[in-house]
Amino acid sequence: MAIHLQNVSFAYPQAPQKKVLDIPHWSVAPGEQVFVHGPSGGGKSTLLNLLSGILQTDHGEVSVLGERLDQMSNRRRDRFRANHIGCVFQQFNLIPYLDAIDNIRLAAHFAASKQAAVEHQTDELLSALGIAPPERHKPTAQLSIGQQQRVAIARALINKPQLLIADEPSSSLDQENRDSFMALLMSLVKEHQITLLFVSHDLALSQHFRRIEALSDINTAGRMH
Ligand code: ADP
Ligand code: MG
Repeated sequence: MAIHLQNVSFAYPQAPQKKVLDIPHWSVAPGEQVFVHGPSGGGKSTLLNLLSGILQTDHGEVSVLGERLDQMSNRRRDRFRANHIGCVFQQFNLIPYLDAIDNIRLAAHFAASKQAAVEHQTDELLSALGIAPPERHKPTAQLSIGQQQRVAIARALINKPQLLIADEPSSSLDQENRDSFMALLMSLVKEHQITLLFVSHDLALSQHFRRIEALSDINTAGRMH
């Protein structure tokens, strides 16, 4: 399984009595693209942070690409994320004063990818994502939000992750940009057979996915009984 959760529960240390997540069982097969929707505050970002190893469970099994994140040291988890997981967030994806190429190079550096290959793949990805050569050398703060999100995808894909995690990455884009962003994202993950977990409150985005789930069907925390 690309993702496998078993009896996972999580509460933030500041509010230990308030369970944010309680997931008895959930899994995603390799190569699947899954859309998980739910209202703001429902725990979508918390779930993604557990899967990328930014947060750790209180108890339960968190397996990603066959590895138990909950049993790894912090150092190994950071390394595992850099090598195997691509992440795209709603905002603040990029280092604003670096250009697109250096943002991507930095991600490749953390994963210790081979430099010559990185240069070539960076060009390829930026071309596929429609970032023209002159835009690649501007500080990313000077790019449009749509361009920044496309650079963020390039950065998330540079290390050839098997799993891509996307946290409402299109919510700051207008309708037209959102549609082309989604089309690009879906064609790239299908081309490279990447497992995609995409979360959003915006149910309209579900049209791009075959597997669509409500977080409330996965997560029993906070449910009314
Ligand atoms: P979503 O992404 O679906 O909007 P979140 O995962 O961000 O939901 O939040 C789920 C719950 O956890 C909310 O009640 C939120 O207030 C709380 N929460 C999120 N981040 C933190 C944090 N760093 N510290 C404490 N509580 C948090
Ligand atoms: Mg969120």
